Amino acid sequence: MHHMTLAEIARGLADKKFSSEELTQVLLARIAQLDPQLNSFISLTQELALSQAKAADARRANGETGALLGAPIAHKDLFCTQGIRTSCGSKMLDNFKAPYDATVVAKLAAAGTVTLGKTNMDEFAMGSANESSYYGAVKNPWNLEHVPGGSSGGSAAAVAARLLPAATATDTGGSIRQPAAFTNLTGLKPTYGRVSRWGMIAYASSLDQGGPLARTAEDCAILLQGMAGFDPNDSTSIDEPVPDYSASLNGSLQGLRIGVPKEYFSAGLDPRIAELVHNSVKELEKLGAVIKEISLPNMQHAIPAYYVIAPAEASSNLSRFDGVRFGYRCENPENLIDLYKRSRGEGFGAEVQRRIMVGAYALSAGYYDAYYLKAQKIRRLVKNDFMAAFNEVDIILGPTTPNPAWKLGAKNSDPVAEYLEDVYTITANLAGLPGLSMPAGFVDGLPVGVQLLAPYFQEGRLLNVAHQYQLHTDWHTRTPQGF
Ligand code: GLN
Repeated sequence: MHHMTLAEIARGLADKKFSSEELTQVLLARIAQLDPQLNSFISLTQELALSQAKAADARRANGETGALLGAPIAHKDLFCTQGIRTSCGSKMLDNFKAPYDATVVAKLAAAGTVTLGKTNMDEFAMGSANESSYYGAVKNPWNLEHVPGGSSGGSAAAVAARLLPAATATDTGGSIRQPAAFTNLTGLKPTYGRVSRWGMIAYASSLDQGGPLARTAEDCAILLQGMAGFDPNDSTSIDEPVPDYSASLNGSLQGLRIGVPKEYFSAGLDPRIAELVHNSVKELEKLGAVIKEISLPNMQHAIPAYYVIAPAEASSNLSRFDGVRFGYRCENPENLIDLYKRSRGEGFGAEVQRRIMVGAYALSAGYYDAYYLKAQKIRRLVKNDFMAAFNEVDIILGPTTPNPAWKLGAKNSDPVAEYLEDVYTITANLAGLPGLSMPAGFVDGLPVGVQLLAPYFQEGRLLNVAHQYQLHTDWHTRTPQGF
């Protein structure tokens, strides 16, 4: 049962082959048995899951239908869940039970999903390896000595190991697409403003976006359908109708113009990944796509710009964690300043403190113009590059990551080495564009992803291309040994 995709589960439930309660019990037992190897969950919500499953079964018995009705999922532990610990992977929020549900959580619950638990993540979503979590590192099911990617590493490892069919995740600089690439999943970061950020604990507000992690594009379409939509509670949510994503999957790729940026194939890219990217291009050509070389000349400036803007916003967002209003408070503070200092010093881990310091510095008087303002100008240039490219092509294709998943601990002593691994993903966040990563082969037994980028609100086009690719390839069906 655990091998089923969301689409297969929906069919099985509709045909009364099994109930949501039965499926939920199977998956909870599987998590109890296998998750100790992976550490992909921070909290399990067995009671909630079983009551939601029973309720979904009752709704089906009453004639209700819906692709998500009775579907088991999990939420990345930065989506607020009412009455349930919402830790953000941090000691700071280890004792925090959210007083309300995030819009994404409420929408998915209304659609009938069953929440199995909250997944592990890099602390406050800062990282690309899921090693900065207060709850310990997550292991990659393809090789337990390697990282699963981050920051949504728990959601990725759990779905890849068939502990559940799909999970929510968020992407500020690649945290859906990069773990998808590292664990052989399909992951979609929607257009900025497509999915509500209300109740999604903020890292960098102008970059953060929630989205689905699943094994197939078909399942990403189903989960995104339940997540997307205008939300008056989020001032950057966009009031655009949500198309039927599943209906977009079957379009022909005949004549689709795919742009491949020449800057993507620089010295930093593992040549074995370059070859797999070229293979995926050939596959799409067979389906009728037309390939064109394009240029994104400002790409080289994106990492420095991102690593100024994201920490700057983080330093502001994380100022709310002061030991007074939420979360961790130090023991026996001597006075107010001591309370602030020690609560934050003891509650935040090293990477979060590093980002707060970098961000506060970049925003400080005298440095703002030199760093933050300059980074914002580069952000505009990166966006302009994409706008020019999308005058010529419908989709941009390239690697999701320059290297496959590295060994646990390999980059712990050099944070910048880890930042550099985000080179292909962060530009979409700077520009606010939708991006998808899909499985495209293996290097040394580790999965490799190909990234597709599209113009604003063209999530359907990304899902269409990925689905057609998945009808003609079988990378996405490969299962890690032992799971
Ligand atoms: N690795 C990037 C960072 O640490 C992106 C993380 C994310 O998308 N949440 O900022």
